[in-house]
Amino acid sequence: MFATVLECLRCGAQYAMDPRAYVCPRCGADDGDPGILDVHYDYGAARSRTFSSRGVFRYAPLLPAREVHEILPAGDTPLVEAPRLASELGIGRLFLKDETRNPTRCLKDRATTVGMALAIESGAQDVYCASAGNAAISLAGFAANCGMRCHVFVPNRVSAARLDWLRRFGADVRISAGNYDSAFEEAEREGRAKGWYSRNCAFNPFLVEGKKTCALEIAEEIEPDFVIAPVGDGCTLGAIGKGFREARELGLIERLPRLVGVQAEGVRPLVDRFCGTRSAEGETAAASIAVRRPRNAIRLFREIEASDGRMIAVSDDRIAAAQRKLAEEAGVIAEFTSAATLAALETVEEARGKAVVLLITGGRVD
Ligand SMILES: [Zn+2]
Repeated sequence: MFATVLECLRCGAQYAMDPRAYVCPRCGADDGDPGILDVHYDYGAARSRTFSSRGVFRYAPLLPAREVHEILPAGDTPLVEAPRLASELGIGRLFLKDETRNPTRCLKDRATTVGMALAIESGAQDVYCASAGNAAISLAGFAANCGMRCHVFVPNRVSAARLDWLRRFGADVRISAGNYDSAFEEAEREGRAKGWYSRNCAFNPFLVEGKKTCALEIAEEIEPDFVIAPVGDGCTLGAIGKGFREARELGLIERLPRLVGVQAEGVRPLVDRFCGTRSAEGETAAASIAVRRPRNAIRLFREIEASDGRMIAVSDDRIAAAQRKLAEEAGVIAEFTSAATLAALETVEEARGKAVVLLITGGRVD
């Protein structure tokens, strides 16, 4: 393992690598920006290792796990080219990174892969998470395969289709009386009290390490000019930024793509914070990114700024139209939240003629 230390993104304090590490003890988790830890590696040593196996563990030298614990095989998803959409929008080449091909149909499986490896290495019997659906379903599926007990905390408006997946996987499902933010607090309270292993992205510093493998895979195939992703807590696009920086460090690419983060107009706290605007709180059907108290803003903004990127808000009407277009003109069934990437691309003038990747993070239509 080449992981060296864990560094707090907020205060810079460093801690020894520990599979049970959580948020920075000095900064805690209660403030607006919690003390999220970031894993550092010895890149010189990692570079001397060739990537051999498949899936997420192909990048084992850049992961914090001691061993390969493959449960359900995640990763190795295709870059689907979308020439019809590209010519319609004047984009040079347009690719969809189709994360719907993961075991539970979602990019979250990459994070779960690493989270479960660390849960196993720390001797956990129980795992938990709060989720609008996708992360919980991912965790429940992996736990079902390896026989770990799984507790999931979901918002009151979770869809029937998502509940059905969770129950089929045999998870202990807790439905909050409130929204995602309430479910998150309830999960943290009970999970921490009972000593369960947390798969709450942002707080668990190892999950973004799994998500970043999506960027490493893209970098092995192409050198994009723009990468566009939906943003809730900020973990996924923050992880993608880290993955591209590591890909540059390893010589897979020469320059970083510009990162564009997308939120729905109804719930856009990170767009407002990035742009210095203030918007009234509303609603959105984009459940996977309807996060009103995002926890990984420091990581997200650091990566967006390093890449000269930006944040964009799009309306639910435009997302709905984009979702239809992805199916009708690219043959890819994207969940509502993932279609926000195409809706955003339609407004990014500087992407004309360039190579663009949209992250299709999930494919659950509900
Ligand atoms: Zn700190």
